[in-house]
This record gives sequence, C-alpha cells and structure tokens, in this order.
Amino acid sequence: MRESSRVLVTIGACAASGGVQALRNGRDLGAVAGAVYPRPELLAALATSTPIAAHVPVDAELRGCPVDKRQLLEVLTAFLAGRRPQIRAHAVCLECKQRGIVCLPVARGLPCMGPITHAGCGALCPSYGRGCFGCYGPSDGAPAGGTSWIYR
Ligand code: SF4
Ligand code: SF4
Repeated sequence: MRESSRVLVTIGACAASGGVQALRNGRDLGAVAGAVYPRPELLAALATSTPIAAHVPVDAELRGCPVDKRQLLEVLTAFLAGRRPQIRAHAVCLECKQRGIVCLPVARGLPCMGPITHAGCGALCPSYGRGCFGCYGPSDGAPAGGTSWIYR
C-alpha cells in the first residue's frame, strides 16, 4: 500500500499504536495466549504488536478507538485541498472542561487518564461517567494547546 500510495493515513488505535493487543508487548506470547485461549497452539501471532509507522513512512495518523469523525473530515479535506491537517495536541481534560463535564477523579474518585491523553474524542468517556483509558494515546505534553500532531 505504501508503494502504491501518494498519501498513507493510518486510522485507529491498532494502526496508530498497536492497539490493545500491544499491552502484551514485553511479555511472553505463549504465556499470554495460554491465559486467553483454550488451545493456544492454534494461534498464529506476531511476538509484538506495533504501529504501522514503525514499519513504513506514514503521512498522518488518526488515533483513537473509534476515531473522531471531525478529525477524519479534517484529514480528508486537508489532503484534498493540498494543505496540512490541523489537529490540536492538547489533552482530553481541556475538551472535558469545554463541555462542562464534572471531573470524575475529583468528584467521584474514579481513575481517568484524560490529563495525559491526546484530545480529539470530545471527552467521550467522561461524558458518560466513565474515566478515559487513553485510547487516543499520549497528549505529547501539550495540556492546553499545541500544534498538529498527525502530519508526520
Ligand atoms: S474527568 Fe478525566 S478528562 Fe475530564 S477533567 Fe477529569 S481527569 Fe480530565
Ligand atoms: S475519553 Fe479517552 S478512552 Fe474515551 S474515547 Fe476519548 S481518548 Fe478514548
């Protein structure tokens, strides 16, 4: 796909970061598979789960599980118009406060990874009373601002 594409955009947490299965990176695959599957010998899997960008150059990454439709539209229109996609690099907390959502750790003592997670979902999980588990990946150290991060 890289060789035949002028622009390559990876979409979703699995493509952009290795996904939930990357949690087993650094562990013994056989032991993990044995804990999950009744017959792990039938499983054919790579030893690690890695982002596509670790293997071929990519032009942009759309993070999240699911990705955000506003970011998807921004990437599509930007590349069609021949400009850089503009995606802010702040943390989920800023979107949470912009929506007026009561902070879950403060008000209910629930864990939430919003302070260190990249924005874009519109604080989806906190809006339903559930802490963020970080599916958009790290916020790149820009809690209240920042520049486009998806254009590589
Ligand atoms: S609920 Fe989570 S995302 Fe929202 S302000 Fe609190 S820590 Fe941040
Ligand atoms: S709140 Fe966190 S876990 Fe939920 S969709 Fe947004 S980034 Fe993903």
